Amino acid sequence: MANEFIYAQPVKIWFGEGKFAQLSAILEELRIERAVLVCGRHFAPDAQAMMEADKRFVALFSQVEQNPQLSGIEETVRLCRAHDAQAVIGIGGGSSMDTAKFAAAVAPNEGEALDYYEGRRSFDAKSRLAILAVPTTAGTGSEVTQVSVVSHGKEKKTINNPAFMPTAAIVDPLLSIGVPPRTTMCTGLDAMAHALEGYWSKNHQPIPDLTAIQAVRLILENLEKAYRHGDDREARGNMALAALMGGLSFALPKTAASHACSYPLSEDYHLPHGEACAFTLDSLVKINADERLEYLCRAVGLSSTDELAARIRAFKEMAGLRTKLGDLGEVDMDKLCRDCAAHPLMNNNPVKLDEKALRDMFEALK
Ligand code: NAD
Repeated sequence: MANEFIYAQPVKIWFGEGKFAQLSAILEELRIERAVLVCGRHFAPDAQAMMEADKRFVALFSQVEQNPQLSGIEETVRLCRAHDAQAVIGIGGGSSMDTAKFAAAVAPNEGEALDYYEGRRSFDAKSRLAILAVPTTAGTGSEVTQVSVVSHGKEKKTINNPAFMPTAAIVDPLLSIGVPPRTTMCTGLDAMAHALEGYWSKNHQPIPDLTAIQAVRLILENLEKAYRHGDDREARGNMALAALMGGLSFALPKTAASHACSYPLSEDYHLPHGEACAFTLDSLVKINADERLEYLCRAVGLSSTDELAARIRAFKEMAGLRTKLGDLGEVDMDKLCRDCAAHPLMNNNPVKLDEKALRDMFEALK
């Protein structure tokens, strides 16, 4: 029986090969005449060409780094204000989309990005620029969430606010053809973590449950192909769909223990986001195994939760991702377990994990 729930998915989604080429028509539909482009280095030459071809792209910030810094958001806000922009278009992985989302929420308002980051000012979903999110990796699902993950110095913060919800998502799998194999694996496992964590979150809901099951199925069937054959358009298309569905799976229920642990693993041991989530994901499949998870496994053609855990571990090993505690270098176990246990997302995990349980989990990773 379904418990009570409130479901909303406000993002208009354009999905399919070639959809990015329709950006002009999409801008017209949204009545956008001045937009700032935001991307990382890999897309900078294309973004430059877009500016030359269409005067509606009034400025470009193309210096987004992995784990995007607040300073990039400040620069994007400055460009938006200087050009009186109506929209910010984030083209790239989660780092570019999250930069665009945060900047769009600050630009038309008083104050600077730091004031909002530090909580001295509050975001207002009714006063922000339009946000167009264009993923070029297949992982974060940021194109359909109201989340922006931002770093300021060494601190990495996840801010969840309706002001960040994209106006439109343009998901064109052709944009992901050039993603290197290791990034393909990391981002694909991030999508797996979103689907599984949305599904087993204490806040799970019937509609995201369905997108979660379909996302897990698509990842199991396509991630290895996308990793080994980056130009396999069918595999890239299915992974782009899986990432989108993974985003829809956790947007409302939110993630849980694997994401809670990913923050210390990224901040202190420098694992990229997807690799950090994947580090504990197979352990958590075993810890969180219950009837519901068995149901998901059968629905995607697996015999058991143990088989799901083994498939996740095999994906990590295939790409040489870190799987063992020793792979992290010198570990401050007390701090690691304390920081993981204290993360608010830990409260969404169906099984309570205190510092002692987390220590047992990490120590078993040999
Ligand atoms: P990313 O955006 O940091 O990109 C990873 C690397 O891949 C970068 O060097 C980028 O330039 C490159 N790249 C991207 N697309 C490419 C392409 N098509 N061809 C070649 N290279 C390409 O990585 P990501 O995993 O997509 O995003 C991670 C960030 O997103 C983290 O900060 C994470 O915390 C955040 N995140 C946000 C949400 C959300 O809902 N907002 C969800 C999960 C993760």
